[in-house]
Amino acid sequence: MVRTNLGAALSEGSALLKNGGVETPALDSSLLLAFAAGLTRERLYAHTDRPLALNKKAVFDGLIRRRLAGESVAVLVGRKEFCGLDFIVTADVLVPRPDTETLVEAALGILSAAGMKGKPALDLCTGSGAVAIAVKHARPDLDMSASDISPAALSVARENARRLVGGGVTFYEGDLFDALPRASAGFSGPSLRDRTFALITANPPYLPAAELAGLSREVRREPALALDGGADGLDLIRRVTREAPARLESGGVLLMEADGSQMAALRGLMAERGLTEISVRADLGGRPRVICGKKP
Ligand code: GLN
Repeated sequence: MVRTNLGAALSEGSALLKNGGVETPALDSSLLLAFAAGLTRERLYAHTDRPLALNKKAVFDGLIRRRLAGESVAVLVGRKEFCGLDFIVTADVLVPRPDTETLVEAALGILSAAGMKGKPALDLCTGSGAVAIAVKHARPDLDMSASDISPAALSVARENARRLVGGGVTFYEGDLFDALPRASAGFSGPSLRDRTFALITANPPYLPAAELAGLSREVRREPALALDGGADGLDLIRRVTREAPARLESGGVLLMEADGSQMAALRGLMAERGLTEISVRADLGGRPRVICGKKP
C-alpha cells in the first residue's frame, strides 16, 4: 500500500466532502485530519509534506465516511469552541452555536452594568453547559447553577464545568425550575423560601415542531429535546416566562434566546408577567436573537 502524506490526505478528504455536498469541505477535511493525526490545524498546514501513518489514515477515512453520512465535525471530534473555550460535545447535547455567544455577552453586559457581584445566577436548558460555563468563566464571583431535563446532557455539562471552571457550577436535573430543590421539601436547606436569582439565562428549544424535518442532516442528528419547542416553538419559552418572575430577585433579569420571528410574542409574554425594561439584542448576523426583561 502506498503511504500518503498530510497534504494529499487533506485534498482527498476535501474532494470527497465536496462531492458529497458538504458545505465547507476544505475546513471540515482539515479539522478531521488534524484530529486523526493528533495535530493542531496550524501544524497540519505547516507540514503538509509529512507522511501520514496508515493507522491514522484509516481513522481519517472513517471520519470522512461519517461526515459524508451527516454527522457534524463537532460531534466527530467531540469538541466545539464557544466564547473562546473548548467544550466537549456528544450526540446528547446541542452543539453550541456562535449565535448563542450573544446571550453570554448580553448576560455579562447586564451583570457589569448592574454592578452584580457574587450574585446567584441560573442557566436553564443548559445542555453542554456552554452558557453557564462561559458566564462563570468570565465572572468567577457568581454563584452559578444550571439545570437540564436530560441526565445525559448534564453529564457532559458537568465534565465541561470540571475542565473549564474547576467545577464551579452546581447542576440540577429536572424540568426547568422543578429541577431546583424546594424549600418546602425539606428542613435542611439554608433558606425557608425557594431560591431566587439575580440572573436567569435560557436557550430553550424554540423551533416549531413542523420545522424539525426540514433541518440540515447535521441538526436533525442533534437531540430533538433541545430543538423542539412545540407547535409554534414557544412551549418552553412560555413556561420559562411564566415561572421566572417568582424566581427572580427584585432587580433581577431574565435573558432568553429565541428566533427573531418570536420576539414580538415574547415581548408581550414578558410584559404580561410584569417584567420591565424589555429589550432585544441582535446576533452576529444582525437578527434579533436575545430578549431580556427585569423584575421591578
Ligand atoms: N438556533 C438553533 C438552531 O438553529 C435552535 C436552538 C434552539 O432551539 N434553542 O438550530
